[in-house]
Amino acid sequence: MSQKRIGLYPGTFDPLTMGHVDIVERAVKLVDELVIGVAINRDKGPLFSLEERVAMVEEEMARISGASGVPISVKPFESLLMHFAEASGANIIIRGLRAVSDFEYEFQMVGMNQALNDDIETVFLMADARYQSIASRLVKEIARLDGNVDAFAPAHVVKRLKAKFSGK
Ligand code: ADP
Repeated sequence: MSQKRIGLYPGTFDPLTMGHVDIVERAVKLVDELVIGVAINRDKGPLFSLEERVAMVEEEMARISGASGVPISVKPFESLLMHFAEASGANIIIRGLRAVSDFEYEFQMVGMNQALNDDIETVFLMADARYQSIASRLVKEIARLDGNVDAFAPAHVVKRLKAKFSGK
């Protein structure tokens, strides 16, 4: 296949965790280019603004892109995932899978997305065992209660979490 493999990794990234980072580090081995789609997700009531989430993802992606040589762009999106994938020229959607918790939802999403555009394949990756149980929701909860989240998110994200919860 001579077609360029352009991957799209969509998520809320509220905030970016070591789980997300691990998935991206695996994804760059499979694609020629990667687009990280940061979902606006007003319904989820994110802790970090879209600008903050994009900035955190961009900072980390610059490092991974530099190390892997794979171009990575970061784009916010609000449209239907399949429309965003088409507009980005992506032909692979990357999702991470954690134990059984993500399965039911992801299974349904793939079914619906295949019906919308069957030319775009969804690929699931699993993070290293150390990062399997990390969820943005729990990282926020621990940080809010003043727990140590150093092992769960990149240092610049930890810094932003501390600032959020100390009101700085
Ligand atoms: P969404 O709102 O799309 O679930 P998230 O930012 O929570 O956005 O997650 C984006 C993707 O990253 C999802 O596919 C999710 O399953 C995956 N993911 C998040 N944390 C982990 C982790 N610790 N291990 C593997 N995949 C993960």
